[in-house]
Amino acid sequence: MRIRITNVLLMPGVTNEAHIPFIPDAEVLVDGSRIAYAGPKAGAPAFEADEVIDGYGMLAMPGLCNMHTHTPMTLLRSIGSDLTLDRWLNEAIFPVEKHLTDEAVRAGSDLGIMEMLRFGTTSFNDMYMHMDMEAEAVRDSGMRALLGHGVVDFDESCADLAPNIALIEKWNHAADDRIRISLAPHSEGATTEKVLLKIREAAETYHVPIHIHVSETRLDYDGSLNRRGLTPPQYLEKLGLTAHPVLAAHCVWMTDEDIELFARRGVTVLHNPMSNLKLASGIAPIAKMLKAGCRITLGTDGVASNNNLNLWEEIKLMPMLQKGNTLDPTVVSPAQTIAAATSAGAKAMGYEDLGQLKPGYLADLILLDLSGAHMCPCNDLESNLVYSAQGSDVALTMVNGKVLYRNGVYTTLVPRLVLERARKQAGSLLERAAQAAK
Ligand SMILES: [Zn+2]
Repeated sequence: MRIRITNVLLMPGVTNEAHIPFIPDAEVLVDGSRIAYAGPKAGAPAFEADEVIDGYGMLAMPGLCNMHTHTPMTLLRSIGSDLTLDRWLNEAIFPVEKHLTDEAVRAGSDLGIMEMLRFGTTSFNDMYMHMDMEAEAVRDSGMRALLGHGVVDFDESCADLAPNIALIEKWNHAADDRIRISLAPHSEGATTEKVLLKIREAAETYHVPIHIHVSETRLDYDGSLNRRGLTPPQYLEKLGLTAHPVLAAHCVWMTDEDIELFARRGVTVLHNPMSNLKLASGIAPIAKMLKAGCRITLGTDGVASNNNLNLWEEIKLMPMLQKGNTLDPTVVSPAQTIAAATSAGAKAMGYEDLGQLKPGYLADLILLDLSGAHMCPCNDLESNLVYSAQGSDVALTMVNGKVLYRNGVYTTLVPRLVLERARKQAGSLLERAAQAAK
């Protein structure tokens, strides 16, 4: 399929620039799964399109990368609200998750993907269970994702590792390379040294990244210090995991040495400001980490600790929290924020040709409607984009050159059925958990 998006305002992407670049009266040409051209309309090459999309009044920009979530947890929306992470996990979430089935995970995955597409997310990074079901949901919906089977190991049995390896062998680079697989040890506190060393070995064998929760709460940080005399980042370094690409979720409780270590090792920080606030985990020192040269990306975390998959809320929160925390309004720029939501995530997922609208790059893009009252007047477009835009402004979401969402219509999902199945599966899941608790 060859698609011409014309008369559009273009934001080709942000990497290290101080400001977000915009090109008025532009055109984006999509040939199959890739961008053929993105630039001024006047400079566009001759191109025969199967479909022409008029982008007047819209901003074309790279799709968002939700870099830390547990998609099927959509079924647990609002479960255990207003508890601390420890109680939330042990009293509200784990007792229900024990009763998950393949059908429930598939229903929750479809629901999460439907929500993410609506808000302009074109790829996501996930760790959970029953991952074959989630991979099938990604395959069928046209989404892009990095998926890992969450490895928990309290007894040194390493029993969770086999399904993670099986997932790599079955799904890595599947669905036209829209699906990639990670190794996903849950956290320092929920694994043993034995399983982490096996994971390091597997990372060497399969060349896949390691996705892990790091220093999410004060309890995580203190626990690691008490158990081993090391902070979680120091422990990962000691075991040799940081010699591989590591995607570290949260990083709220970090010493200056931890930050320096992660910057030096090229560890990607997955920042989840809304989840950290809801669970009262704290505020990650993102401004410090950016200054130290860490790669910062943004995630929603699971719905149960957020309560939605609308990454635009994180886009606004990331700079706001750092301003409030440091009393310095210049401490995180709009360009750094948009890079965290797009190009930095794409790179961390292992794609060299994703996250910007450039010739040869994969065609993952969104159109943002700029005509809302909350976007008017446009005195400063980059400020409007970060501080005024809403997820509901997303008018079109394209992944791998295919339009998956446009003005309320999905091309691969039937919303009525997705919602019906999600309600039914959530109901019976909670029912099973309640019966077992009796
Ligand atoms: Zn998480």
